[in-house]
Order: sequence, then C-alpha cells, then structure tokens
Amino acid sequence: MIDQNCAYCVEGELLAKFGIKICELEASKVYLFKEQSHPGRCIVAPKKHVGDMTQLTAEERSAYFEDVAKVASAIMAAYHPDKINYGAYGDTGHHVHFHLVPKYKDEFEWAGIFTMNPDLKYLSEEGYAEMISKIKSNL
Ligand SMILES: [Zn+2]
Repeated sequence: MIDQNCAYCVEGELLAKFGIKICELEASKVYLFKEQSHPGRCIVAPKKHVGDMTQLTAEERSAYFEDVAKVASAIMAAYHPDKINYGAYGDTGHHVHFHLVPKYKDEFEWAGIFTMNPDLKYLSEEGYAEMISKIKSNL
C-alpha cells in the first residue's frame, strides 16, 4: 500500500526535506538525516507502510530489526560514537521508522534526549556523499 503523503513510501521531494536515501536492505529503507548535529545520524524505515511495529508480522519485524542493527553497526564502524540512541515517535507520521542517533561523549546533547531536529548543522552535497559512502561501505 502506497500512501501518497508518506515520505518513506513516495520519497522524492517529501523525503528531500529531511533526508537522503542511502540504500535498501532486506526489509527496510535507510536514509541519512540531513541535519547532522550528531554525525552519522540515520533513519531506518520498514519497506511496508505500517503505522506501528505491531502491524508487521513477526517475520517482517524480525527482519526489520535485523536491518536496524546492521545500520547501527555500520554507523559505529564508520564514526565510532560512544553510544547510539534509538528513537521512534511518529505522533504525526504514519509510517514507523527509527532514528539512529550517534552520541559522542561530552559533545552535543550527550547524556540527554536528542532533539528531533536541532536545525543547526547541514552539510554540502559533497559532505553528504562522503558520509553516505562511508556508511554504505560498512553495511
Ligand atoms: Zn509509508
């Protein structure tokens, strides 16, 4: 089912407002979050348009979380954060997705809750391309 208002289903301009597609994995789509106050921040959404993880079958959910773990490992290998925070909110969105937010000791928002979009740090096209290739090479 494709929801024409869903950035994760339609991608294109809706996605471009906040993210850049990195790749697709077995059960999910992986995006780089354009706001990069937390270097390496990504989003992982299941390929299937569901509003909550309980709407995935056990098999789909397990494949999805396997992908979330894969992306977390790639971020760790590429950027060596001290911790990765995971956030799934979606009060106003209707396609379940996890924010994978690398946290660095004594840096921005360390030991606190990450801001949904701090709107502070954006990269050049080259900067994004470099980041994507670094994460991809560790997937
Ligand atoms: Zn969707």
